[in-house]
Amino acid sequence: MSRAQIALDAEGRFWQVRINCPGCGRVHGMQTDWTPAGMERSPHIGHAQWGFNGNLDAPTFSPSIKATTGHYCNPGQTIGNCACDFQERFPDEEPWDVPCGICHSFVRDGRIQFLGDCTHALAGQTVDLPEIEGEGD
Ligand SMILES: [Zn+2]
Ligand SMILES: [Zn+2]
Repeated sequence: MSRAQIALDAEGRFWQVRINCPGCGRVHGMQTDWTPAGMERSPHIGHAQWGFNGNLDAPTFSPSIKATTGHYCNPGQTIGNCACDFQERFPDEEPWDVPCGICHSFVRDGRIQFLGDCTHALAGQTVDLPEIEGEGD
């Protein structure tokens, strides 16, 4: 059972390793200094930021994974021009479906440890990574 997945670029070269995040509900993709055996690395990989143990069933990444969205990316985390005030700015539109947030975790041996600065419900908790399907795109 795979808890991490290899994703390829448009030309079928190694691009990143992905996990399904149970905290923020999104997919986190890591460009690793590890390359699958026999595969060519995508030239689109810039600086490979993560180390990876090469185990798709029990993945370990280092260092931590931090994903910030919306106003958490702003200096001082000031609210504005983001999902929080979207409805105010565009009252006739459907609500923005990606909330502003921070997801910060360590992934070790197939488990994900969420740090205290996460804005979602799993902050401070450690849980198993869910299975991730398919061969990537
Ligand atoms: Zn997440
Ligand atoms: Zn916001």
